[in-house]
Amino acid sequence: MRGLMQDWPLLCHRIIGHAALFHGTQEVVTRSVEGPIHRTNYAEIHARALKVSQGLQRDGIKLGDRVATIAWNTWRHLEAWYGIMGIGAICHTVNPRLFPEQIAWIINHAQDRVVMVDTTFVPVLEKIADKLPSVDRFIVLTDRAHMPETTLKNAVAYEDWIAQADGDFAWQNFDENTAAAMCYTSGTTGDPKGVLYSHRSNVLHSFMANTKDALGTSAADTMLPVVPLFHANSWGIAFSAPTMGTKLVMPGPKLDGASVYELLDTEKVTFTAGVPTVWLMLLNHMAANNLKLPHLKMVVCGGSAMPRSMIKSFVDMGVQVRHAWGMTEMSPLGTLATLKPPFSNLQGDDRLDVLQTQGYPPYGVQMKITDDAGKELPWDGKTFGRLKVSGPAVAKAYFRVDANILDEDGYFDTGDVATIDPHGYMRITDRSKDVIKSGGEWISSIDLENLAVGHPAVAEAAVIGIHHPKWDERPLLIVQLKQGQNASREDILKFMDGKIAKWWMPDDVAFVDGIPHTATGKILKTALRDQFKAYSFPNAAA
Ligand code: AMP
Repeated sequence: MRGLMQDWPLLCHRIIGHAALFHGTQEVVTRSVEGPIHRTNYAEIHARALKVSQGLQRDGIKLGDRVATIAWNTWRHLEAWYGIMGIGAICHTVNPRLFPEQIAWIINHAQDRVVMVDTTFVPVLEKIADKLPSVDRFIVLTDRAHMPETTLKNAVAYEDWIAQADGDFAWQNFDENTAAAMCYTSGTTGDPKGVLYSHRSNVLHSFMANTKDALGTSAADTMLPVVPLFHANSWGIAFSAPTMGTKLVMPGPKLDGASVYELLDTEKVTFTAGVPTVWLMLLNHMAANNLKLPHLKMVVCGGSAMPRSMIKSFVDMGVQVRHAWGMTEMSPLGTLATLKPPFSNLQGDDRLDVLQTQGYPPYGVQMKITDDAGKELPWDGKTFGRLKVSGPAVAKAYFRVDANILDEDGYFDTGDVATIDPHGYMRITDRSKDVIKSGGEWISSIDLENLAVGHPAVAEAAVIGIHHPKWDERPLLIVQLKQGQNASREDILKFMDGKIAKWWMPDDVAFVDGIPHTATGKILKTALRDQFKAYSFPNAAA
């Protein structure tokens, strides 16, 4: 027997419809690419998104066609998202920080028909435009006054383009499992892989994101997503914030400490989200200028492990920290670290211990850890295993890749190695390809990196496994010092000594001027392994 409830498909554009109707005057503030602060609201965004839909339809874009965006977080980008999805086209967010050849590869793989691009990235696209045969036209996300001279095919300024639509248009209705958006994983090895979100997965994910112990903002909050719309589905914020009528503050192209601080302060932001690098820049700027953020209540941090010293800095400022883990394939929220009752009264280091874990999942994500053979491992907080996940907003396949990516129980292998404790708190110890295998035991490179960056002279640290004749692999600590600071190999090892098991101690420390990163800001270990491939430990006697 089937339930007798209405068939009300979970469609992304209904979210902006809801925001326009019930929170129409709620502001969306942007530091525009052109420079000035721009103010609009959900009612206007909704109205203009309808014009985007109408314009795309007039240009011949149909259900299932891919429309790319290469853009910062702005109100126009948000309009484009909803306008593209509103006719059942697929909003493909392209990461502009990728190499131009990778951008071309991704656009070709997705077969994008239209590209909406910020003025910032027009020169990059001009260089690869002749390699993009699927693209019929480029829409530059600006007005006529700021439209650059460009050789891009059929280029038009966005404002001119939507001015041709009268907005007398109705959102379309289709099955909720229709594809809505796509995002390619940055992929440190092999070709990038396209993750294809559905309307249903995005809407369910926004419900998940909006639970109190996840992103949980309300109409009384002001949210600044530093995380770009082109990173991992913007952590779902482009959907979750309008669902709740949360005021949005979009940082545009300026993500440095001073610019982010200025917006957090002037717009009285209560809730913000981004990767550790961004918070490092913000905290440095605040410390150097003795600044405070009295309105800020919550910082969500994910994308890579949040260092303990950073968690402490925010906690000491009276700001709550929510360490989150997820991935593009998970829409992307997987887990968040909030303090459940047994832990809520903990203080000092004990409290930081829990906040530093990656946390536990909201309802809608299941997880398990297994050994290499797929056998489930115990949740004792000590045993490392491959972390596998399932849920309605977790990928079951990659776009145009004919391969099964799920195990026999329907779980996706995240490629991360983790422990889970008896309370369900998960702790990432490594990427499976980065974990250091020493004498048959595993050493967590992330734990060592976190510890090393706690040294006051260390700006960034990376640990890689180097072949060792006796132990198979041993850890090499690679350190970039803060400008103007000094520390020797011995200083750093002494600082780490006693804080970890003896056999986890790095066998050596190498100093570098810079640590390479991927386009999403993660340490590029493949490049470091390459750089140090001729290295051998001074004490490596068999
Ligand atoms: P992406 O799909 O680009 O967002 O990358 C996902 C990967 O980033 C995960 O599989 C993890 O390896 C890593 N990651 C994300 N959040 C965290 C975190 N809080 N701590 C450690 N690693 C993280």
